[in-house]
Amino acid sequence: MTLTVLNPATEEPLAELEQADVEQTDAAVERARTAFPAWRDVAPADRARLLRRLATLVEEHAEELARIESQNVGKPIAGARGEVGMVAQVFHFYAGAVDKHHGETIPVAGGVDMTFREPLGVVGLIVPWNFPLNIASWKLGPALACGNTVVLKPAELTPLSALRLGELVLEAGIPEGVVNVLVGPGAVVGRRLVEHPHVAKIGFTGSTEVGRRVMEGAAGTIKRVTLELGGKSANVVFADADLGRAAAAAPYAVFDNAGQDCCARSRILVERSVYDEFLGYLVEATRRVRVGDPADEATEMGPLISAAHRETVASFVEGEPHFRGDVPSGAGFWYPATLVEATNDDRVAREEVFGPVAAVIPFEDEADAVRIANDTPYGLSGSIWTRDGARALRVARALDTGVLSINSNSSVRVTTPFGGFKQSGFGRELGMHALSAYSEVKNVFYSTD
Ligand code: NAD
Repeated sequence: MTLTVLNPATEEPLAELEQADVEQTDAAVERARTAFPAWRDVAPADRARLLRRLATLVEEHAEELARIESQNVGKPIAGARGEVGMVAQVFHFYAGAVDKHHGETIPVAGGVDMTFREPLGVVGLIVPWNFPLNIASWKLGPALACGNTVVLKPAELTPLSALRLGELVLEAGIPEGVVNVLVGPGAVVGRRLVEHPHVAKIGFTGSTEVGRRVMEGAAGTIKRVTLELGGKSANVVFADADLGRAAAAAPYAVFDNAGQDCCARSRILVERSVYDEFLGYLVEATRRVRVGDPADEATEMGPLISAAHRETVASFVEGEPHFRGDVPSGAGFWYPATLVEATNDDRVAREEVFGPVAAVIPFEDEADAVRIANDTPYGLSGSIWTRDGARALRVARALDTGVLSINSNSSVRVTTPFGGFKQSGFGRELGMHALSAYSEVKNVFYSTD
C-alpha cells in the first residue's frame, strides 16, 4: 500500500511512502512493549537529559522541520517556524517536569500511606493533519516524561515531520523502541492501536466523529483515552470593547492555518448596537490577510489541505457571502477568506467548517451572548472582548468551554492546560495537567504496627 504525500500549494508529490498494515502495527506495539521496562526504570535525571537533548535537536533542525511542515501542510513558513519553536519548548518543559510530577503521603492511622505516579505502558498517539508536529509533541512530551513507550501515528496526509522527528528521537539517544512512528490509514493502523490489548492508552486528536469511534473501540479493553476533538468556538464582541482591536485580531482567529484549526473562533458574535460598525472594520481587516505561496515570508494564509476538503468547505457557503477574499490562480487547493452573516441555527454556525469561513452573528445583550455561545455541541475555545472586567469574568465563568481568552485570541501555551468541554473531548494537554493523562495513581499503605 503506497501513499503519495502531496504539497497542497502545488499539488505536486513530496514523497511516496509504504503504509503499515495490522501486522506491522502489532510489531511496533511489541517493540514498544519490549522497550518499556528499561525506559520506565531510567533514572529521572537521565530521562530529563534525553528529553532536553531532543528539544535541542529540534532547535538545531528548526528550519528544516519548519520547511517540511510548511510544504506538507501548506502552512505559511513564518507560522511553521513558530510551531517548531513551540515543539522545542514542549520538550524542554517536560524534561523539567520529569522529577516534579510525584506522589504524596497521606495521613492515615496505623502506618504510612503513599501514592506513586506509575507510567501506563505502551501508549498509542494518533494525531491529525493540521498541526502535525505540534500536536505530536504535546502528547510525546508528557508520555515520555512519565516513562511510557509510544507508537505515534501521524495523519496520512501529513506524515513527513513525524518521520523526521522519529529520527531525531534516536539521535538524541532515546533508546530504540521507545518511540515508534507508523505511517498508515486511520481505519487500519489507528483502529488496531485502539483495539490492541497491549496498548494501555490512546491519546487522540482529530474529529469528533472519529473520536466517537476511538471511544467505542477502546471500550473492549477498558483502554484509557484522551480526546481532543472539534470545535465551533465563539468570539464574543461586546459594544464596550475596543472594536478596532477586536476586529483587527478576529481574522487571524479564524483564517490562521486557513481555518483548519480546532480553536478557530468561527462564530463571531457581535452586540447588535455596534454590529454594522464592527462588520465594517472586520471586512477591512479580512481584506488585509495576505494569501499566497506558503514559502513566502509575508504570507499569512495558505491553501487548504486537499481538493476533497475544499469541496466540503465550499458546501458551507450558500449564496453570496458578505465578503470573499482573493486567492492565487493555478495549482493548489485554495479557498478565499470568507465572511458570512448568519444566525446560530444555520449550518455554517452549527458545524465545524475547518476552513476560512467565519459566521458573523448579532446578539442583544450579555445573557443572549452567553446563550448563543453555549448553543453548540462543542466547547473548545473562545474569546471575550469587553472593557468591563467584571463582565469579562462573569461571561468567562458562564461559557461551557475549556480554553478562553479575554481581549485576546490566544489558545495555546506550553505551560497551561488545553482541552475541551462537551463534544470537544476530555482530558487536558500541555502544562503539568497533561502528566495526569499519561500516568496512573498507585496507592500503597505501609503498616507500622
Ligand atoms: P480525523 O479525525 O479524520 O483523523 C485524525 C487521526 O485519526 C488521523 O491520524 C487518522 O488517520 C486517524 N483515524 C481515522 N480513522 C480512525 C479510526 N477508525 N481509528 C483510529 N484512528 C483513526 O481528523 P483530521 O481530519 O485529521 O483533523 C481535523 C480534526 O481534528 C478537526 O475536527 C479538528 O477540530 C480536530 N482537531 C482537534 C484539536 C484539539 O486539540 N481539540 C486539534 C487539532 C485538530
